[in-house]
Amino acid sequence: MSKTQDHSISRKLTWMNMLVSSAALLLACAAFIAYDMVTFRETMVRNLSTQAQIIGSNTASALLFNDPQSAENTLSALKAAHNILSAGIYTPDGRLFASYSRDAAGQISVLPSIPSGQTEIHWLKDKEIVLVRSMVFEGKPTGTVYIRSDVEELNRRLIRYAGIAAIVLSACLMAALLVSSIFRRAVADPIVRLAEVAGVVSRDKNYSVRATPTRSRGELAILIDAFNEMLTQIQQNERALRKAHDGLEQRVQERTAELEAAKKEVEEFSHSVLLAKEEVERGSKFKDQFLSTMSHELRTPLNAVLGFSDLLADERYGPLNERQQRYVSHIHTGGKHLLSLISDILDLSKIEAGRMELAIESLRVETVFGEVLSAMRPLADKKSQEMSMSVEAGLAVRADSTRFKQVLMNLLGNAIKFTPDSGRIEVAARLIEDRVRVEVRDNGPGIPPEEQKRIFEAFYRLRESGKKIEGTGLGLAITHRLVELHGGELGLESQLGQGSCFYFSLPVAVGMREPPSLRTESSPRSGAPARILVIEDDRTAAQLIQSQLTSAGYESVVCDRPQDALEITVQLQPSAITLDIVMKPKNGWEILTQLKRDPRTARIPIIVVSIVDQPSMGALLGADEYLVKPVDKATLLAALERLVNSRPASAPARPILIVEDDAPAREFIAEMLTAKGYAVTAVADGAQARARVAASLPELVILDLVLPEVSGFELLSEWRSNPRTADLPVFILTSMDLTKEEQSYLRTHAESLFRKQEPWQEELLKQLERAVSLGAPERV
Ligand code: ADP
Repeated sequence: MSKTQDHSISRKLTWMNMLVSSAALLLACAAFIAYDMVTFRETMVRNLSTQAQIIGSNTASALLFNDPQSAENTLSALKAAHNILSAGIYTPDGRLFASYSRDAAGQISVLPSIPSGQTEIHWLKDKEIVLVRSMVFEGKPTGTVYIRSDVEELNRRLIRYAGIAAIVLSACLMAALLVSSIFRRAVADPIVRLAEVAGVVSRDKNYSVRATPTRSRGELAILIDAFNEMLTQIQQNERALRKAHDGLEQRVQERTAELEAAKKEVEEFSHSVLLAKEEVERGSKFKDQFLSTMSHELRTPLNAVLGFSDLLADERYGPLNERQQRYVSHIHTGGKHLLSLISDILDLSKIEAGRMELAIESLRVETVFGEVLSAMRPLADKKSQEMSMSVEAGLAVRADSTRFKQVLMNLLGNAIKFTPDSGRIEVAARLIEDRVRVEVRDNGPGIPPEEQKRIFEAFYRLRESGKKIEGTGLGLAITHRLVELHGGELGLESQLGQGSCFYFSLPVAVGMREPPSLRTESSPRSGAPARILVIEDDRTAAQLIQSQLTSAGYESVVCDRPQDALEITVQLQPSAITLDIVMKPKNGWEILTQLKRDPRTARIPIIVVSIVDQPSMGALLGADEYLVKPVDKATLLAALERLVNSRPASAPARPILIVEDDAPAREFIAEMLTAKGYAVTAVADGAQARARVAASLPELVILDLVLPEVSGFELLSEWRSNPRTADLPVFILTSMDLTKEEQSYLRTHAESLFRKQEPWQEELLKQLERAVSLGAPERV
């Protein structure tokens, strides 16, 4: 079937024609032959019946007269009929009476009975027709004729007809072939041409070709017209499409050009962004460099300026005249102002640059308040201001210790600065939900409402205070940002003439243990040389001594109730005591005796400061120094220095190595230590320090971090990794801004860390004394 489908249409048409024609003809011939065969057979039967009738009538008398010979004669006439095979006459009782046979085929043995009402029956059997007819004479059955004929004639006729049919069929097929070839041209040729045109169109995409129209108006013509019409439409569409395509192509080209231009612009832009980024990075690097250079380069010489002016003011190297003292004091004040300004500016730029890193820890508020208050108290005392703190015991916050103290110092410093003499200042902290609200309150002049918004801006100062009181206008700006860095906000409540309250809140710390630093501070073995107890019932005299002590950096506590002196001394464990003699209700001699007898206070040095001139009595009762009023500052401080800050007897012979590249700073530190009786060696760079330590171990090293060639960090790491120097005590003294990592490294590998931007001298001496007299202290 599929093969047929592959054939061309003309072939299919020819085949169709031939098949249809031959099928029709075959059917027609078959019908005709079948009809003729049936008719001819009936004719044969009729002829046989006639012959049987004739035989019956001719042999009736022979039967009547029982003359078989006559009957057989009659039968023999059948010889003329070639188709008769045999014949027989039977008596009514079924006995063969006479017979005829063309060859030896014989008779039928049993004569079939003829159904009643019929005179004759016939049947076809083995290519033979058999006919049996009953003979009736004068209404009575006389016998039965039997006649048997072959069908040769029928067969011959059939063969003849088949031949004729074949001839007719062939002729018809020839004619059909002829006709189909004529029709093929009319039907198939246009289709074939149409197919060729379609082939050209699909192969060459050539829509301009057309199929040739036919002359007829039939379906083919419609098909060709529709095909041509379709081609016309496709051609038009294709033209429109090409036009659109060309337009599109042009637009794509334009867009591509635009995109190229945009891409170029973006590239140029990103290049400029890259340049800008590099610029910013360079800027930020420069800023970093600037910050650390400023930090180091400005603070180091300033520290030396301050230190030397201090030494000069102490008249250690000879007395200064009044003018010289004034100038030295100017240098000192100017230096201090400059140092605080530099620190403020650096702090602010560090915060603005996002480089201020906080080391958040849990801090006991009471401890921090105590430290800040005792640092600020001398300033308040100078103005006779009352300073108090109120904080729940055990309250702790999460904050950076240094920055928290800085915030408090700024706020307290302002309160002291702007509140008039004898004013009241209070620092308070209380828990509100999960935050600790810290307040610094004063009863100073207050801040007008219209200025309150601008107060936290950098360099902003109130017009009033700006002129009279020194300041930079940076303190609150820094404080504000530091509080923000802790996740809080600095607020202000103030009414003109009624004082101000600055407040902020910090997250509360829960489950905090006693900080180790507190234990060390309060430990009696630390000696706490800076705390002096002034036992004096006269307020003015006490204030005078206090201010002398404070100006020299001592912390002083006044005991104006002589009866409580022992108890307070036991509690306070001061580094030294100044004791008046003329007091009520208990005089100084009694107190001296008591203190020197009590084992809890016996070793505390006592300087008697009195108008009573009885030094021998004092010596007898155990006084360590005896000064007769009026006592000038230098004498008092010298006595104190002898007792409190003097070099322990067991001072080691090995020197303290100072590693500092800045010559004035180096000289100042060396001078400071020498004055306290320490043996000192100083070197200017890391390489020299390395060589010196390799040659002989110093008692302790005071190490700057920023050094030429080999840095302080490198030295420290070298020493720590060498078993010989692993335990060498190292104090870091630096003005460098340290990252969290650096701080934590130094905490583990150095004994102490001092920053030049904060007051360090006193604490360094204190720790040095502890380190060299009691062995290496705990690491910071
Ligand atoms: P400085 O103290 O260096 O002037 P601050 O930024 O700390 O700079 O303060 C800005 C200004 O705010 C001060 O000049 C002062 O006028 C005002 N101020 C700050 N604290 C107080 C206070 N407790 N009472 C009155 N005025 C204050």
